[in-house]
Amino acid sequence: MNKKSGIKNIIFDLGNTLVYFDLGYFYSGIAEREKRLNAAKFKKFIIKNRLDIKLITGRLSHKDFFKKLKKKFDLKIGYNDFIYFYSDIFWVNENMKRFLEKISRVKKYKLYLLSNTDSPHINFINNNFPFIKIIKNRVLSYKVNMAKPDKKIFQYTLDKFKLLPEETVLIDDIKENLLSAQKLGINTIHYSSHRKFTSEISRLIKSVK
Ligand SMILES: [Mg+2]
Repeated sequence: MNKKSGIKNIIFDLGNTLVYFDLGYFYSGIAEREKRLNAAKFKKFIIKNRLDIKLITGRLSHKDFFKKLKKKFDLKIGYNDFIYFYSDIFWVNENMKRFLEKISRVKKYKLYLLSNTDSPHINFINNNFPFIKIIKNRVLSYKVNMAKPDKKIFQYTLDKFKLLPEETVLIDDIKENLLSAQKLGINTIHYSSHRKFTSEISRLIKSVK
C-alpha cells in the first residue's frame, strides 16, 4: 500500500519503545524504604484513584500526588527522595537507541516524540538518556492535557507539525494507540520485538543499516 518513498515523518513512543520502564520499581522502592508499607496496596490506591492518569494529563501536580500518598500511607520519606523513586524506573532500549541515532543522520526523515508522560519522568529521561534529545519535536501528554489513545492527541500532533497522515508512521508498543492513529490514516508499527520492528520499518522506509 505504501511506497517506500512515501514516509517522511516518524513518530516515536517513549516508554517501552525508546526506553523501557517498570513502575514496579517505584512501588517496591517506596515500600522498602517505608518498611510497614505494602507495595501492592500502594499501587492499587494510585491506580484506583487514577492518580497516574491525572499526572500524565497534567491534572494533578506532583506535590499534590505526594501529599495524597503521604497522608493515606503516613509516609516518612521526603518529597525529593519520593520523586527520585518515582522517576528512576527507566532503562535504555539499546536497539532503539542505535536505530534513532542512525535514522537521525538521514535528513529525509523528520522525527517526533509523542509520549504519555509527566515532568519528573521526562526530566529524568533527558538527564539520564541524552540520546532522546535527538528528537526536538515533541508532544508530551502533560503539557497538552491529552493522552494516548485519545484520537485528539494524534490529531493535535498532525496539526501542530503540519504532517500528512499518509506520510507519517507511528512506532508504539500499545495496540490501542496504534488503532487510534490508524483511524486518522497514520501508518503504524507495533513495537513488540526489535526483530519484528526492523522488518516492518524496512518495508516502509529505505533501510538504515
Ligand atoms: Mg509505550
